[in-house]
Amino acid sequence: MTLRAFLSRRVVTEDGVRPAAVVVEGERIEEVLSPNRVPAGAEVRDFGHAALLPGLVDSHVHLNDPGRADWEGFETGTQSAAAGGYTLLVDMPLNCLPATTDIGALEAKRRAAAGRCWVDWRAWGGIVEDNQQCIPSLAGAGVAGFKCFLVNPGIDGFTMVTEPQLRSALPDVAKTGLPLLVHAELPEPIDSAVHRLQGADWTRFETFLASRPEEAELAAIRLLLSLCREYRFRLHIVHLSASQALADLRSARNEGLPVSVETCPHYLHLTAEAVPRGATQFKCAPPVRGGANREALWQGLRDRLIDLVATDHSPCPPQMKRFREGDFRDAWGGIASLSMALPVMYTEARERGFSLGDIARWMSHEPAKLAGCDERKGRIAPGFDADLVIFDTESERTVTEDLLYYRHPVSPYLGETLRGKVQATYLRGKAIFENGEFPGGPRGREYPAERSAPSFSR
Ligand SMILES: [Zn+2]
Repeated sequence: MTLRAFLSRRVVTEDGVRPAAVVVEGERIEEVLSPNRVPAGAEVRDFGHAALLPGLVDSHVHLNDPGRADWEGFETGTQSAAAGGYTLLVDMPLNCLPATTDIGALEAKRRAAAGRCWVDWRAWGGIVEDNQQCIPSLAGAGVAGFKCFLVNPGIDGFTMVTEPQLRSALPDVAKTGLPLLVHAELPEPIDSAVHRLQGADWTRFETFLASRPEEAELAAIRLLLSLCREYRFRLHIVHLSASQALADLRSARNEGLPVSVETCPHYLHLTAEAVPRGATQFKCAPPVRGGANREALWQGLRDRLIDLVATDHSPCPPQMKRFREGDFRDAWGGIASLSMALPVMYTEARERGFSLGDIARWMSHEPAKLAGCDERKGRIAPGFDADLVIFDTESERTVTEDLLYYRHPVSPYLGETLRGKVQATYLRGKAIFENGEFPGGPRGREYPAERSAPSFSR
């Protein structure tokens, strides 16, 4: 087989950002060498000063397929991911129909994904009010872990769990050894805030913000940490928005609890103060908060209390955003960001003195680890899949609809000027995105190709 060498003056490896040749044989990385040691006969591609990062891994996306492919679907979702530098997505168990809460639904997702994905993928299983008996079988069938909600997710087909329901699921979750991802907001602080807001103007973002107080996240995280202490399951907090919770998370870390935390590009870039009236493309839950909170989240990344950055890509048809009414109460909550997450993160991280190595850790290595894909994904190193992003850090671009590639080009980033451009994305050695084109076909497959024997036994 022909050896190929990808050269760059800025290859992002575990040992730092340095000039290197990434030698690829077939689908895997063979070696990472100094550029003057490229093996004779290797086919060389020199990317010059463009950075070479490991393919990004998004451990939190909603592709809404099967069942709601008109919201996004595997084709456009994974193409927009390829355009954004992603090579592996882990799909959430809700917003698709059926929701991934039993084996039949997991198999339905596998059938729907077959031959339609441009990047590799994996599935999370769901835990809802009445499917605790499915936890062992879902684990055995290859889900990466589980997701549940402590508050109503606001979509048909997926229920929240109460504390007693969660308690009855946790011993089985702990036995699987797989992570439990939790949407950490409790209903009571939200319900009483909404009650106080009767008669408020819901075209104002500050009304919506007041309806999802930090207290809801804080109380949920405190409950989860105490359950984690009691049941010793692997806890992962998804989309942390409330920086107030970082103090509790720091104590949990110091105590040695098995907890990890993610936040999203929108919480690290947008601020509540700047959301225009009626601009429901900025709505997600928990909400984007104020500028001081944003800086505290960056500090959480710096202190390594926040492990990773996932998009929570959650699109919907434009009419569900209710742009005409501009009503934050009724509009669908969710921000689609697969194509733009890397430039958003690079723009903000660079200003704060972070390196490309930090970005690779937050957006590739750590999410791969969370999803149990870190044997082959998330690093530029020998033996890993040849998943590579060629990222031109010097370009600046204004975000326009044609750069989004989603089924519906709705985004709070439209019109913004961001730094950095994904020049090309390689999945297991072959280009899947290059200069605005999608060469080849949908070669993505479920990770892992060979499934290891289930570790769960009763
Ligand atoms: Zn989500």
